[in-house]
Amino acid sequence: MGEKILAIEDVTVSFDGFKALKDLNFSLDKGELRVIIGPNGAGKTTFLDVITGKTKPTQGRVLFKGKNLRSLKEHQIARMGIGRKFQTPRVYLNLTPRENLELTCNQQKKLWSTLFGKSKSAERQTVSGLLETIGLTANADLPASKLSHGEKQRLEIGMLVAQSPDLLLVDEPVAGLTDEETENVGNLLLALAQSHSIMVIEHDMEFVRQIARKVTVLHQGSVLCEGNIDEVQNDPRVIEVYLGQ
Ligand code: ADP
Repeated sequence: MGEKILAIEDVTVSFDGFKALKDLNFSLDKGELRVIIGPNGAGKTTFLDVITGKTKPTQGRVLFKGKNLRSLKEHQIARMGIGRKFQTPRVYLNLTPRENLELTCNQQKKLWSTLFGKSKSAERQTVSGLLETIGLTANADLPASKLSHGEKQRLEIGMLVAQSPDLLLVDEPVAGLTDEETENVGNLLLALAQSHSIMVIEHDMEFVRQIARKVTVLHQGSVLCEGNIDEVQNDPRVIEVYLGQ
């Protein structure tokens, strides 16, 4: 078994008595790319929220690189190396992709020198390297407002990577994208998986098939089953849950 980057131990999250997560157990190996699926209301968003510290578990522990995150605030957890991409791209539309990435890299540089008196340059990719990775070299100097939805998604993933996280949390990156754009985002995530641990929430099963070696199915706040895409798609419990929607 590989080294664990993330462990969720018996986590319950209650909202006024309603359990959005219920005795949830989960672990992610360092360098793994895992896709989380589950019907609406299964607890997927709450799951990411307890990892980033937006929501604190009512019970149980969240361990990142072996450290219990309970007493840490959201920004402290982000600094430990957890980056989250929300469903809607949050890029500066009046700036170009190059400027968006430069801004993120400079903010990161400032943060590192304030915190540690030095930059993290050895680990940071250059802006041109990032543009290459996200496939936006040709459009690097266009206003981001002119990019397609898929290109904006890739730009935001690049901005996330510029923050040098160890764990990337990516929420529905291909909703509303064309097939070609979906494949591009998939290839980008696969490339990033060479050097990052990644968790993706996704509904698009073709996309899940493209990127995932292992899938976790959430249902009613707990893990219903885990396995490769064929195993989970053929699992009678998963079929029942999705048909019951
Ligand atoms: P998913 O992302 O899988 O659709 P969520 O994590 O958003 O599921 O929600 C899981 C359940 O928890 C839902 O029934 C939702 O209504 C409930 N829930 C989520 N956040 C809150 C909250 N802040 N207050 C009350 N109920 C919530």
